[in-house]
Amino acid sequence: MIIVMNATATTENIQAVVERLTEQGFDIHKSTGATHTVLGVVGGAGAVDPRNYELLDGVGEVVRISEPYKLAGRLFRKEDTVIDIRGVKIGGNEIVLMAGPCSVESRSGIREAAKFVKRSGAKVLRGGAFKPRSSPYSFQGLGVEGLKYMREAADENGLLVISEIMDRMDLPTAMKYIDIIQVGARNMQNYTLLRELGNMPKPVLLKRGMSATIKELLMSAEYIMAGGNHEVILCERGIRTFESYTRNTMDISAIPILKSLSHLPVIADPSHGTGIRDKVTPMARASVAAGADGLLIEAHQDPDHALSDGAQSLYPDQLQELVEQLRIISKAVNRTIAPEPERINVS
Ligand code: PEP
Ligand code: MN
Repeated sequence: MIIVMNATATTENIQAVVERLTEQGFDIHKSTGATHTVLGVVGGAGAVDPRNYELLDGVGEVVRISEPYKLAGRLFRKEDTVIDIRGVKIGGNEIVLMAGPCSVESRSGIREAAKFVKRSGAKVLRGGAFKPRSSPYSFQGLGVEGLKYMREAADENGLLVISEIMDRMDLPTAMKYIDIIQVGARNMQNYTLLRELGNMPKPVLLKRGMSATIKELLMSAEYIMAGGNHEVILCERGIRTFESYTRNTMDISAIPILKSLSHLPVIADPSHGTGIRDKVTPMARASVAAGADGLLIEAHQDPDHALSDGAQSLYPDQLQELVEQLRIISKAVNRTIAPEPERINVS
C-alpha cells in the first residue's frame, strides 16, 4: 500500500499516520519529495481497509498495490492451475465441455441426456438436484435421489458429474455422488458455505454472483482457498444490468480479466449468461475466443418440456453443432477440444 500525503500535510500529520501504521504492525518506507511525502507500507497482519487511512488528517491518496486475493491471484502462483479429475484436466490446453439439463428430472431423462452429452464430446455431465428457484412453487429438484440418478448416468458414459449444492448440510452426502461441487450465483457470497468448501477434498466451480464484481468473485474464491482447498474453478455466468433483451448480460470481458488476475481455470456459462437458446451458441463461441478454459452449457433431450430453463437449453443437435464450430475457434486460439465424434465409443 502507498500513502501519498497532501502537499499541505504537516510533520505532525505525517507522524500520526506513521504511528498508526506502526501500531498495526506495518513496515514504513518514507520518501520525502519537493512537495509530497509518500509512505510505502508493507507487512502487517490481515486485510487492510484503505479507508481507515484515507480519513486521517493530511492524507491525500491511499493506493493498494497488492490485491487482497492473495491465494487466487497471479502473484501467489504465476503458472495456470490445472485441476486433474480422473484424467480430465480443467485449466490446461484442452477446452472442457460440461453439458446437461438445468435440473435432473428423472432417472430415464438424465440417462438419455448423458448419452447425447457424451456423444458431443463433453467430459462432464451437468444437472441440478438442489435447485435455487426464484419461486418456492417451481420445481425444486429431486435432491439426493437426483444425484444418484446422475451418478449412474455419468458412470454409464464415462462422464464426470457437476451439480450445485446450496446447503452445507447436504455436502457430506453429496460428496459421494459429485466430482465437482457447483456454487450457484445466489450463493457466491454465502461465506459459511464457502468456508465449509475450504475443507472439502473436491474441486469447486464458483459462479459469479449476478451483481458481483470480478474482485468480489476472486475474494469468494479466496474464502475457499484460505481453508486449504485450492481446486477452485471460476465461472462467468452473466450479470444483471439495465438490458432487458437478455436474462443476464454475459460479461465476456470478465474472462480475459480473470485469466490475467488469477491462475485459476475460468469456465463460461452462456446459458444463464443470456437466458435465450439462440444466443447461447454465439456467446459460447465468443467465450472460447476470449480464452475460457471450458463451457458449462444447458442442453436437454426435449427442451420444450424441461422442468426448468427449457428456453435456454440447447437441443442435442445444437450442442453437437456448437462443438463442431468450437473446434475451429479453439484451433485459432491454440487450444484443443473434444475428440472428433468417430473417436468416441458410447455404450
Ligand atoms: C444452474 O446452473 O442451473 C444455475 C442455477 O445457475 P446460476 O447459479 O448461475 O443461476
Ligand atoms: Mn439453469
